[in-house]
Amino acid sequence: MAEKTLNDLFLDTLKDIFYAEKQILKTLPKMARAAKSEEGKAAFLKHKDETEGQIERLQQVFEMIGKPARGKTCEAIQGIIAEGEEIIDEFKDSVALDAGLISSAQAVEHYEIARYGTLKSWATQLGYKDAVALFDANLQEELATDKLLTKLTKLGETQANPKGAKKAA
Ligand code: FE
Ligand code: FE
Ligand code: FE
Repeated sequence: MAEKTLNDLFLDTLKDIFYAEKQILKTLPKMARAAKSEEGKAAFLKHKDETEGQIERLQQVFEMIGKPARGKTCEAIQGIIAEGEEIIDEFKDSVALDAGLISSAQAVEHYEIARYGTLKSWATQLGYKDAVALFDANLQEELATDKLLTKLTKLGETQANPKGAKKAA
């Protein structure tokens, strides 16, 4: 077997995030359905649409490097999603449900941000200039989503924690 290179690692990681994005695409509508607040629902649905575009960008990267668009099981995203499902299950009748959903979503975004940051650096090193721009487009959407979720967390402090709201008032 030939010695592995950064190119191999790049392809494996591209497959990893491709798999992860497809799992996320399936999960976001469930999160939107579970969310109690309109803001939460809207955020998850908006990001579902963005995720469709992100998957298309990844398909373009596969095409650019002449490889079939194929995912590789990402146990990290499976674990993060499983944790989110556990929260939906255990907090479905609770005022803290949305806070839990948002926290799960942020864990997802942070995983994606880590992956896209790395892929962008490697694409630069490997001279895949057009791929750099595609990864960056995805990265910017993940960063913006993370920011929005942080905003919703702050908004939710008063809803999910009425005691805290009293104190703040
Ligand atoms: Fe994504
Ligand atoms: Fe992974
Ligand atoms: Fe995302």
